[in-house]
Amino acid sequence: MRNAENGTVTVHAEGSSPAVEALVAYLRRGPRGAAVVDVVVQDVRVEGHEQFALRGVSAGSFVVQEHAATTRHFDLRLEVAGLMRSWAVPKGPSLDPSVKRLALQVADHDIERNPFEGRTDAGGVVVWDSGHYEQGGRVPWPEALERGHAVFVLHGTKLQGGFALQRTGPGGGSQWLLVKRRDDWARPGSDVVAEQPASVVSGRTLDEVLRYGI
Ligand code: MN
Repeated sequence: MRNAENGTVTVHAEGSSPAVEALVAYLRRGPRGAAVVDVVVQDVRVEGHEQFALRGVSAGSFVVQEHAATTRHFDLRLEVAGLMRSWAVPKGPSLDPSVKRLALQVADHDIERNPFEGRTDAGGVVVWDSGHYEQGGRVPWPEALERGHAVFVLHGTKLQGGFALQRTGPGGGSQWLLVKRRDDWARPGSDVVAEQPASVVSGRTLDEVLRYGI
């Protein structure tokens, strides 16, 4: 909110359409003690981190599991409409915004399986990171995912800040890229997967779980 010399008051408001409309209606009536001549509404483009429309509102849980099966990979899972949308990321996530990591969309997972760690028939799993996340961007989810471009903010132990998933394959294909966005949580030149290998649940690495179990 800003007061100009000529009596103009500029209000920058972000929120859902009904909330913004209610605010505009209130301003038209005039706050107590104010004589409102006119209200001009202007849509503004917000850039950078400000484009996250739902800042501060958790969209649900996320988990990154390190998984040894036929191959070793990381599974990034985001809660969307009660299910964990999932991407297998062979090299794992990065906090370096210049690093683009291949992410192959795989079958949805049940939320109940998020905390699972231990040996499996084909190998084993550890919870490499977990927490909650915010959905971002101007297109609401899950439509953003259907369109193939989704930005989100992670609040995990190892992963923090803005990320983007961008579909790169043709049409509705399974091939995506996972990229860290440039913000205060970006760590250029870092390799978080190598630096912090241990589970956020048990403290064990996947190698330890494969050798000794949980
Ligand atoms: Mn997997």
